[in-house]
Amino acid sequence: MTVEEVKANIRDVIDFPVKGIVFKDLTTAFKNSECINFFVDNMYEHYKNLGVTKVIGIESRGFIIAPILAYKLNIGFVPVRKKGKLPADTLEISYSKEYGIDTIQIHSDAISSDDVVLLHDDLLATGGTMKAACELVRKFGVKKIYVNFLLELDFLKGRELFEDDVEVYSLIHC
Ligand code: AMP
Repeated sequence: MTVEEVKANIRDVIDFPVKGIVFKDLTTAFKNSECINFFVDNMYEHYKNLGVTKVIGIESRGFIIAPILAYKLNIGFVPVRKKGKLPADTLEISYSKEYGIDTIQIHSDAISSDDVVLLHDDLLATGGTMKAACELVRKFGVKKIYVNFLLELDFLKGRELFEDDVEVYSLIHC
């Protein structure tokens, strides 16, 4: 399957969740096994020799593909969740969103300074959520941070938020 064929499987939903937003709905791609293969095989080829030790998925759409990749890389999966969802001791970070402040958390024993982490979410828009997740995992002193998205909205220039030592890789650009 080509990038253009995968793009054709992604549905644009106009004015969701609020007026003026074109929501990129990936569920229409996820129901097609060829698209799932495209995503996972492409990510596997990109990351298989980089020494990644944990795949970290960002709630909630980052939970769909990240565990499949973790299985394929034969490494663990770790969730980053919205405040109040994780049951044990957590580290957290707050960040500004368009309307108000959001807080995300990770279990404090989920990763360590020995880890090379791959943070994954479905889509890069402004980058605020993933930037906060990077700062959160930095608190553990991890060896290296990779950041991955299935889809990047280039016009929002979200990737400019990330420090030079973070490698940002998106499979599809719109
Ligand atoms: P941001 O922090 O602005 O990069 O927003 C990223 C998160 O919001 C991702 O988890 C996406 O799932 C979601 N998101 C933001 N904008 C869109 C969009 N236009 N279409 C689909 N998802 C979006």
